[in-house]
Amino acid sequence: MTDEHEHYEAVVVGAGPGGAAAAAVLARNGVETLVLERGVEAGSKNVTGGLVYAEESAPYTVDALFPDFREEATERPVTDYYLHNVAGEQVETFDITDLHEHDTEWSDAVLRREMDSWMADRVHELASETGGGLLTDVRVNGLLRDGGEIVGVTCDELDPIWADLVIAADGVNSELARDAGLMDWDDPDEWFQGVKAVVDVPSEIIAERFGVGDDEGEAHLFSGDLFEGVRGGGFVYTNEDSLSIGSVFHLDSIVEQEAEPHQLLDNLLTHPLLADWLEGHYDEVEYSAKLVPDSKKAANPSPHEGRLLAVGDAAGQMQAQGPIIKGMNHAVSAGALAGEAFAEAKLRGKPEQAGDLYERKLREEGVMGKLRPKGYRVASALGEREPVANATDSLLTSPVGRLGVRLLGDRLEDLYSSPYLSQIVPDTQTPYVTLPTVIAEELGERVAGEADFEPKDLATRIGDLTYDTDVGNPHIELLDDSVAASGAAVTACPVSAKDFGGGCYREETVKTNGSEQKRVSLDTQPCVECGTCAVVADTDWEHPRGGKGVEFEQG
Ligand SMILES: Cc1cc2nc3c(=O)[nH]c(=O)nc-3n(C[C@H](O)[C@H](O)[C@H](O)COP(=O)(O)OP(=O)(O)OC[C@H]3O[C@@H](n4cnc5c(N)ncnc54)[C@H](O)[C@@H]3O)c2cc1C
Ligand code: SF4
Repeated sequence: MTDEHEHYEAVVVGAGPGGAAAAAVLARNGVETLVLERGVEAGSKNVTGGLVYAEESAPYTVDALFPDFREEATERPVTDYYLHNVAGEQVETFDITDLHEHDTEWSDAVLRREMDSWMADRVHELASETGGGLLTDVRVNGLLRDGGEIVGVTCDELDPIWADLVIAADGVNSELARDAGLMDWDDPDEWFQGVKAVVDVPSEIIAERFGVGDDEGEAHLFSGDLFEGVRGGGFVYTNEDSLSIGSVFHLDSIVEQEAEPHQLLDNLLTHPLLADWLEGHYDEVEYSAKLVPDSKKAANPSPHEGRLLAVGDAAGQMQAQGPIIKGMNHAVSAGALAGEAFAEAKLRGKPEQAGDLYERKLREEGVMGKLRPKGYRVASALGEREPVANATDSLLTSPVGRLGVRLLGDRLEDLYSSPYLSQIVPDTQTPYVTLPTVIAEELGERVAGEADFEPKDLATRIGDLTYDTDVGNPHIELLDDSVAASGAAVTACPVSAKDFGGGCYREETVKTNGSEQKRVSLDTQPCVECGTCAVVADTDWEHPRGGKGVEFEQG
């Protein structure tokens, strides 16, 4: 730090897995590092499914950077992994543990509030030794520029801070990556939207109903006809004494189908299979939602500009590998590689080369190859053309296709377990809806459970959230309130719905001089800051000031 203005060698924005990894590597290399996090506590703004993976081929894993991580910051190891193909009450289940274990050193279930705040304590200790530290409740609102060059960051709560390196680890709604022109929020087909409920279930009931011991856990995935034709799927992950139950869908598909994300979640919560697990124990403690990038389309191959290096979701690095979702491990790898690149460049007396070095490391360490697999480019060029996709679906649902599914029988489980095929799955109805439905119809068994509970309604879910109002400082401005420009947000926003009085987005009929017009109106109060409307509506969107807005207790 200098006397004229606050200066650090490195400023890391965001204390999720990407920011924590970057800061840990920087600090361990003696780089003076300041971490700025907008939540009241690290993790209070974050949502994940979520299973943390430590990949054998990854350059960095979270437990290698943070010893004791698994003992202290995670819920349960995930030892069994199943995919349920659903057609009504018919279900055909595949054991795809082999796919889950491919290139996997370990994988644990996590809740983000606990995980991130635990890592933040470690990061603060490490960064303090360099003359820096970690500050919460601070929202970085832009890049500080001098003569057009990025030289630091500006914040709502603090004076501008100068830095030789700025790491944008500010997640999917990265204001810094947008400011630097490294990411836009234009195309719904580049994003997934995830919606999740955490349901408290005593550990002894989890043990009994899932048949797992203390050091075991299960992951269950769902696809087929239970999500109203929306491309994506559902999940149930066992935590220590709760279940994470949610769904992740392609955002363009949610918009096309005018689907209500909270209702799709309810379809899963009340499915007979879940009814068996939740019978007598439906105690939903948190509803949450977030957007994530589809790395196959959004991962920036060159995520740096001047002194700014973007890591994790801010660089589009969230990978959907078939049914497996991997974002946290890639954020860790990228964050650590960015820190390593700066430390090396500084040692060579050329800190300005950190960005190029980071880009090279992403490529040479194989991170980029996983995020944007070549096979997908080839498969999607053919398989995602509409006539081909329609023909595939027609064939699958024909008597010939159904016979083929029956003949394949058990071998389908092997196909679903193929790491290569999981990387090249086309983004069409076929793998998410049509094929699983046909599999369940032709091979499945009827499940008999019946839900003895009603999921919470949207008003109760929103009412249960901790929300620090920011009256007079709306973080979303509706630029065009016509239904054509912003109507998609009414259904796609996870806290809004058609014919629902609360929520952020509402469709209204306004009478003017005898004529009627449909308009969209906005109230950001229950906003869970998922970012959906930044992509599907015509808004000016930014994060609420540090500490303001929603605070997740679980994540
Ligand atoms: C429903 C769902 C299921 C998922 N399942 C999985 C899974 O099972 N496994 C997996 O690996 N991944 C999963 N993901 C993806 C994973 O959560 C993300 O890829 C990962 O969290 C990205 O990490 P990150 O560090 O880049 O960003 P984030 O975790 O989003 O962290 C960004 C941090 O920056 C802070 N921040 C943002 N803006 C500012 C600012 N202006 N100033 C200061 N601080 C700021 C935020 O508060 C936050 O703490 C899932 C995501 C969702 C939504
Ligand atoms: S208002 Fe926008 S950011 Fe907030 S919850 Fe709705 S879609 Fe998400």
